[in-house]
Amino acid sequence: MDLQEIMKMDSEYYMNTFGARTQVCFQYGKGMRLYDTLGRQYCDFLGGIAVNALGYGHPTLVEAVRSQAEKLIHCSSLYYIESQAKLAKMLADNSCADRVFFANSGAEANEGAIKLARIYFKKKDMPQKYGIITLKKSFHGRTLTTVAATGQEKYKEPYAPLIPGFKHVPINDIEALRQAVDKKTCAIMMEPVQGESGVHPLDVGYVTAVRKLCDEKGLLLIFDEIQTGMGRTGKLFAYEHYGVEPDIFTLAKALGGGVPIGALCAKESVAQAFSPGDHGSTFGGNPLACAAGLAVMEAMLTQELPSNAEKMGSYLMGKLLELKNRLGIITEVRGLGLMVGIELEQEKAPEVKNKLFEQGFLVGSVGMSVIRLLPPLIITEEDIDAFVKALEQVLTSL
Ligand SMILES: *Cc1c(COP(=O)(O)O)cnc(C)c1O
Repeated sequence: MDLQEIMKMDSEYYMNTFGARTQVCFQYGKGMRLYDTLGRQYCDFLGGIAVNALGYGHPTLVEAVRSQAEKLIHCSSLYYIESQAKLAKMLADNSCADRVFFANSGAEANEGAIKLARIYFKKKDMPQKYGIITLKKSFHGRTLTTVAATGQEKYKEPYAPLIPGFKHVPINDIEALRQAVDKKTCAIMMEPVQGESGVHPLDVGYVTAVRKLCDEKGLLLIFDEIQTGMGRTGKLFAYEHYGVEPDIFTLAKALGGGVPIGALCAKESVAQAFSPGDHGSTFGGNPLACAAGLAVMEAMLTQELPSNAEKMGSYLMGKLLELKNRLGIITEVRGLGLMVGIELEQEKAPEVKNKLFEQGFLVGSVGMSVIRLLPPLIITEEDIDAFVKALEQVLTSL
């Protein structure tokens, strides 16, 4: 089918929750690059929104999915699943978590985290402790509960009344957080680097103080690492930058390299709160998704992708800061590793995104003034040089 036919069918039959999509339909990808219906090539600096950490057509991932699909795609968690047990062990061996439960998406992993925090206190005979404090500008998903957890009014307002028990405080403000804690609070939940609202990293001093506050008050610390996890920030998990360990953290996006999977990861003492029957999922942790997760983890560790993310992240950041100093159109460049936000002086982020698209580069825009970059972790200096050159051209043409 050609693009016009696809667009027409989409507009007639698909629910319109995306507004005007970029007018392109990709047919296949290889490495950093995607190819559309006309064979035109695009270098991807958005990585399917932080999902395609290994880029496209990565041989380890493709072979794992192909061979698992031939053997067994699904059988239900009523039975033991080899790849599920192996992936849980691999995540536990490489993180501060002791146990893992698999979901199908980020929001669903966060739902699991919220359920686990609540049941943990219920089983300690503290049913009045169900409140969770999250941060303003946070994003935790699109289900009703994760919309309640999200600190952005635009996602909540259409669906009120929401699940009660959530409060939001400004980021990097420990006093505001301290004051928000009350006798109902059971957990504090945060993204180490806020992604969806335009890339806002938490300060190291703040996160250390949050961990201390949780210890003082007996609260659980939940990190939403759905976007920051799996090497994105230059460490396998972003909490490693902060010298603290969360009690619970969640993963999704890059975990399956594009095959849908989410993970709820927790310390043993917390994970024990789930007894048989307390939580479940039909698809969660199925053989195919876990085979993909294993392949991604294997590639992460053997190909040192977190360390490449760190190196390439600082190379990219350096180039962007150079551009900022030279052009004066950029007001701020922020981020961690390969999670980067470029704040523009004027409200021209959508225009910059579209012009970069015309030059064969995919980026994201947040609101009117932030360009968001989440490239695959396999990125090279040459890819970055080509991108920065195109960005400079676009910014000077505004
Ligand atoms: C993307 C994202 C989610 C939601 O994940 P879905 O798979 O879309 O449900 C939650 N939290 C953060 C930090 C995210 O980036």
